[in-house]
Amino acid sequence: MAVPLLDLKAQLKTIEPELKQAVMEVIDSTRYIGGPQIDELEAKIADYVGAKHGIGVTSGTDALLVAMMALGIGPGDIVLTPTYSFFATAGVVARLNATPAFIDVDPDTYNICPNALRAWFEREKDKRDRVKAIVPVHLYGQCADMDPILDIAREYGIPVIEDAAQAIGSKYPSKSGVKGAGSMGTIGSFSFFPSKNLGCVGDGGMVVTSDAALAERIGFLRNHGANPKYYHKMIGGNFRLDPIQAAVLLVKLPHLDKWHQARRDNAAYYDERLQLPGVKLPKVAYQREYHIYNQYVISVKDRDGLRARMTEAKIGTEIYYPVPFHLQECFKDLGYRKGDFPNSEYAADHTLALPIYAELTTEQKDEVISQIRAFHG
Ligand SMILES: *Cc1c(COP(=O)(O)O)cnc(C)c1O
Repeated sequence: MAVPLLDLKAQLKTIEPELKQAVMEVIDSTRYIGGPQIDELEAKIADYVGAKHGIGVTSGTDALLVAMMALGIGPGDIVLTPTYSFFATAGVVARLNATPAFIDVDPDTYNICPNALRAWFEREKDKRDRVKAIVPVHLYGQCADMDPILDIAREYGIPVIEDAAQAIGSKYPSKSGVKGAGSMGTIGSFSFFPSKNLGCVGDGGMVVTSDAALAERIGFLRNHGANPKYYHKMIGGNFRLDPIQAAVLLVKLPHLDKWHQARRDNAAYYDERLQLPGVKLPKVAYQREYHIYNQYVISVKDRDGLRARMTEAKIGTEIYYPVPFHLQECFKDLGYRKGDFPNSEYAADHTLALPIYAELTTEQKDEVISQIRAFHG
């Protein structure tokens, strides 16, 4: 039985008439830039994640880019990111001619390691003043350990941009109560790329913040920095969210918690049946209800062997991510070497994402499990 890594058709079937109607409404309205769907989505997403303001943008990548532009990040500045994430996290830093500096991840959660972050500040005393942002990533749908990260940021007076592209609706048990991913830092960024838990029918993203002045600035920056129209005190770009995408997301948003729960149930099903020697299961760092399982990622010794077997059995898997930032060719001038970040390098060589989407059937999950069991048997 074939089991794709992600089956968007299976989700589409559950909402197809409403989705098509919402898209047709935008087309019929002839209001193709901005409009009521954008305003409604911004308010609803901000509310959903626990921030005051939402600003719809073109993609998760542009959400990070415009967030950094709003903070004035540019040449000479340093931005700290984990070395193990999707490329956008570090790519946007370099695009602004700032310098990304990399931090290793925790070997169990694959999120930025707060101790490694603190060690950076202790080691790089002469560079501290150049750090203009810390960008923790809530990888695979589980929050990074934000309390110590925010403590470090406060200590040095540095803003935090949460890359919450994979973590909309994920929660963190902070010292001051349970918080939503994206609501804890200065700015949070989200992606609506189709493979995220809340995906549109193309590219889309959202920036959230509870700082009214920053929200206003980001709002101008996404529209070439114009304020008012045709008058530019700052230089932005065209980072506007498409209202068709907003309309699609408004149809999907009421289903999101149910889809998260189905992914959690799938994860619990795998967890119970994949307790095998040699298979490291994804760690639940806080509690399962706080995880949205954008990915279910295991770590095994012979990852490439397992993947070959899964492919042969027509089971979709993926390697997120095979090359950490510090070993990417485009960053070779930064001077990092193999061995600099052992946890990230180990993860890049041993982890494998399994199908975890909400509509997986029991038969499909059993097929995934039986192939892994046979390989490790
Ligand atoms: C998907 C993703 C992004 C980028 O989002 P796009 O909408 O594809 O531009 C950024 N960071 C992380 C961690 C992501 O997973």
